[in-house]
Formats: sequence, C-alpha cells, structure tokens
Amino acid sequence: MRRQIAAANWKMNCTLEQAETLLEDLLQLEHDLSRSRLVILAVPFPYLMLAKDILHGKKGYHIAAQNIHTKSHGAHTGEVSAEMLRSIGIDYAVIGHSERREEFGETHAQLAEKVNIALEYNIKPIFCCGEPFEIREAGKEKEYVAKQIEDSLFQLDDLQMQHFIIAYEPVWAIGTGKTASPEQAQEMHAFIRKIIADRYNAEVASLVSILYGGSVKQSNAASIFHQPDVDGGLVGGASLIAADFSTIIDALKEGLQVT
Ligand code: PEP
Repeated sequence: MRRQIAAANWKMNCTLEQAETLLEDLLQLEHDLSRSRLVILAVPFPYLMLAKDILHGKKGYHIAAQNIHTKSHGAHTGEVSAEMLRSIGIDYAVIGHSERREEFGETHAQLAEKVNIALEYNIKPIFCCGEPFEIREAGKEKEYVAKQIEDSLFQLDDLQMQHFIIAYEPVWAIGTGKTASPEQAQEMHAFIRKIIADRYNAEVASLVSILYGGSVKQSNAASIFHQPDVDGGLVGGASLIAADFSTIIDALKEGLQVT
C-alpha cells in the first residue's frame, strides 16, 4: 500500500497563540484518515511539543520537524538533532527544503548525512528536491533532480527506500503562486519513480510516496493529486489556513494498492 500524504510546511510562521488556534481549527474539520492516508504537520521547533499534545490520540495526524542537524549532539549552537527529536517522540523531519539549500547552502552530501542520521533515530525524512526556473528553461530539470536524489538518497538500502517520502518541489513554484501543471508534475514524478526502480527495483519504487509541492491550493490540489504518480502534497502558504488545508487533505486519493 502506497501512502497518500498531505504535509503542511508552516515554515517560520505563527505565534504560539496562532499555532494553537490553527491546530485546533484543523482538528474541528473531519477527515477520513487511515494508515494509508495521512496528514503530517511540519511546525517550527518551539511548537513541536504543543502540536504533539494537541494531536495526541488523533489517528492519522503526525508531526514533523522542518530540519535536523547532521550530528546527534555536540557543539552546534542553535541546531536541533535527530536524537533530540526522537527523545520527544517526533517521527518525521523535512530534509533538504529548497529554502534551506538556498539560504543555508545545504549540499547534497550534507543532506545524505541528514537522511542517514534521521533514519538511525527512526525519524522518517520527507526529502525535498526540485529544480530552479533557469534549469527548467534549459530543459535540464530531470538531470538536476536525478542528481539531487542520487547524491543524497542512493546510499540507502532497499528496506530504507521502501515507504520513503520524497517531495518534488520545483523551486519556481514555491510561494510564487505558479504551479506545475498536473502533467508536468506527473512527468517528473514518473521519472523519479523510474530512477528509483532502476537503482532498487520496481516494487520498492512503487511503495515510495512522491509528494508534489509548489503553490498547492484548494483549487488545484485534486487535479494534481489525482495524477497516478502523485501521492499528495507538501503545502506551504495554504497550510496556514485551516479550511484551505482541510480541502487539500480531502483531495488526497485513497491509499494506493500496489502489486
Ligand atoms: C513549501 O513550503 O514547501 C511550499 C511548497 O510552499 P507553497 O505551498 O507556499 O508554495
């Protein structure tokens, strides 16, 4: 069964009070979630415990950190480790968001280390990849995304890659209001699944959830999510409004049976 996922990336938004209201408003809205259809909320570090408390016992809801350090502990002022996140019961972490790649210069090699340490502490990465505009203009987007995936993920073994979560987020679509068309998303997602099948095998590839990210909103979620290789979305702006994110959750397909 391939999981269908609506993941929210709050980025550096919300005061404590706003975070509490957003979580409570979201929970007021009923969603049909199961083991194969889930919601993951990547909230800022200061609100991880709050989110955990509010979502405690709510089936299908999970919390994610937005980043982790490459090391488990030590002299890294201002950083947060996988060991710390494990100690407070956080099961997911976004790794390699384009804003971190751009603002903090995170490299493919560092991201491989982050993915490895996350898995060591039993934290499931949501690994982001995606090309900037000039790369798409030059027609080199597949090469670019393949390199991001090969350099940061292909050290994983078959078991680690099974049920892995990748978010394809074309940088030109993040926070810009421009969305990849459903066909553009499908084409890249099918390509990502193919390179995983070539490196691992078709069964492993069929179990990887590949989310689309980049200006997903109420009006376009269903047409993107209903593409065969799109398994939900990583949503920034629209995840900050409970009603909007709720509609996006409802646009998820049922968990996909894979043979
Ligand atoms: C994101 O933050 O990963 C994202 C896709 O943002 P937005 O939905 O606002 O484009």
